[in-house]
Amino acid sequence: MQTKTATRTSFSRLSSWLRCPRLHRYRYIDLATEERVSGSMLLGIAFHEAAELHFRGIQRGEQFVSAEVYAAFDRALTDSAKYNEEVGCPVDYGKASLDELIGKGHEMLAVFLAESPRDIEVLDIERSFEIEIEPGRVVEGVLDLVLRQGNRVLVVDLKTSAQAFGQDRLDFDSQATTYIVAARQLYRCAVDFEFWLVTRTKSPRFIRYPVVRDAADEAELIEAIREVEAATALGVFPRRRDWQCMGCEYRDRCNGERGKEA
Ligand code: SF4
Repeated sequence: MQTKTATRTSFSRLSSWLRCPRLHRYRYIDLATEERVSGSMLLGIAFHEAAELHFRGIQRGEQFVSAEVYAAFDRALTDSAKYNEEVGCPVDYGKASLDELIGKGHEMLAVFLAESPRDIEVLDIERSFEIEIEPGRVVEGVLDLVLRQGNRVLVVDLKTSAQAFGQDRLDFDSQATTYIVAARQLYRCAVDFEFWLVTRTKSPRFIRYPVVRDAADEAELIEAIREVEAATALGVFPRRRDWQCMGCEYRDRCNGERGKEA
């Protein structure tokens, strides 16, 4: 049973703060309208929708129909592109057009459908969770895919990315830690975790990354949640300048506010 006065956060809020506290403020505190959205982000969301359809088919034991998976991807990507244009949030396609993005998505789906395992026992898809990570601290999130593997479960988080993951991400990504703790509470058994990545590279690749976490990682996660809570309460949202600023959905506002809060 959860503590009645628990503080509450979601993994998305935590990860946005860890990516850039200023971006977190715009998105979750100020509820600012996004200035733009990246085409690669829309591709990732559409890819998830298509993969979800694929996994639901496996779960129901249905005959594999790839045409439906491709169609779901096309629909999700074109609908979201249209929606964003209509609400005045332009899509930043970078060097690609929408058609080229769809083409890249098809290449990625082809690799994913050919190489991702199908002899799997699907336990849950898009399973939401709400766990008390320590007394008085609730964390919410959604597990993409949960597989039964004997008396253990394997939590899979599906990713798309411009490149393969580096070792630092595999060692420190707080999503894996959060989801392992959550799945252990949900399923009451030993939990394994993998990222399943499909790259947006010239020749897309499907890569499985098993990730292991220990008690020290879990303690670090709780410390991070406490520190984000404390910084938020104090209104501390420093900019984190790095390569991600180029694609940031709030970069005009962020740049325009420089020097105005000192
Ligand atoms: S432009 Fe960079 S520093 Fe500013 S909010 Fe975006 S990611 Fe953060």
